Amino acid sequence: MLSTMMAQLVDVKNHGKISTLGERVLGGGSISRDEALWLVNLESSADILDLLSWANRIREQFKGNKIHLCSIVNAKAGACSENCSFCAQSSHYQTGSPKYGFVDPEPVAEAADEAGKNGVTAVGLVAAWKGLNEGPLLDEVCDRVRELTATGKTRPDVSLGLIKSQRVADRLKEAGVECYGHNLESSRRFFPQTCTTHTFDDRLETIGHLKKAGIKICSGGIIGMGETREDRRDLAFELKAIGANVVPVNILNPIPGTPFAKNDPLPVMEILKTIACFRFILPRQEIMIAGGRTVNLRDAQSMIFMAGASALMVGNYLTTLNQPVEKDLQMLKDLGLDPGWDSHGFSDQEETGCGCGTESCETEAVNSV
Ligand code: SF4
Repeated sequence: MLSTMMAQLVDVKNHGKISTLGERVLGGGSISRDEALWLVNLESSADILDLLSWANRIREQFKGNKIHLCSIVNAKAGACSENCSFCAQSSHYQTGSPKYGFVDPEPVAEAADEAGKNGVTAVGLVAAWKGLNEGPLLDEVCDRVRELTATGKTRPDVSLGLIKSQRVADRLKEAGVECYGHNLESSRRFFPQTCTTHTFDDRLETIGHLKKAGIKICSGGIIGMGETREDRRDLAFELKAIGANVVPVNILNPIPGTPFAKNDPLPVMEILKTIACFRFILPRQEIMIAGGRTVNLRDAQSMIFMAGASALMVGNYLTTLNQPVEKDLQMLKDLGLDPGWDSHGFSDQEETGCGCGTESCETEAVNSV
């Protein structure tokens, strides 16, 4: 009897603390790293549901009922020189994933048509290679971006790996790229366990060039790779420090043949709690649930919005399948959510830092468009 009463007291205490943090974020404040760690370590379903309800309020406060939809085209598949341990497209692993060179205009035009039909805001051209340098390939990439822009049906985004020169970022911007996808993948501490052929700092350098060029940043990571809760908290703070505009949260879908093939899946409540903590740390950002949604969340997919997600990757992922777009659109309709994202754009977001990833960075944002 006494232990039940104690448990109830502890729950009430947690309820009060979650509410205090939620109210602070709703009021435009922020939470500290220690407070975020306390949130990611919440265990009871009552506490986690409490957290979700506050994350939902924060999403509504800063994003309204608008949901940003993105889709991707695998613009160059497989045979990648890098050894990212989660990736079906790395040449280091035998995965049976398709391999082909940079795409012709037709598949890109088809993707734009499909996006326009479904009200998808952006189509991202994603290439499986280490990075992009000046040369004929960059010319071809810029051509595809111009073609995509010319359709007027969708925003042309790209995800083309590491960029080592400012000139490359500037040329992408000139071609019409508004937003570049470049995940940090995980915390700085855990990153070497996901990849050893390039570094966390290589990724930050790329983001710095992109921000200087005036390109918006789509950067997030993957959860369920074996990282700790603290790593997830640290990733969210890194993303805050680089000033990511869109934050994709991928949930590992283990690919046979890769080093992470046998990873245990994260429990659904752990995934939802992580999304909610990201919303507390990144109240104004587009938090987009991307790869691994269908396979990991199954019937709980619609709860991502209550957990604070404001964006959704629709259509198939790079190497795995997603549920049909029609089903996602129906889910939004049932929840009273609106996929018409354009009306709020990126203008409601703080533009922080220069992309260096230093939390205390005082350098004025180079991209306050
Ligand atoms: S995640 Fe990107 S860089 Fe890493 S192996 Fe896959 S395609 Fe290559």
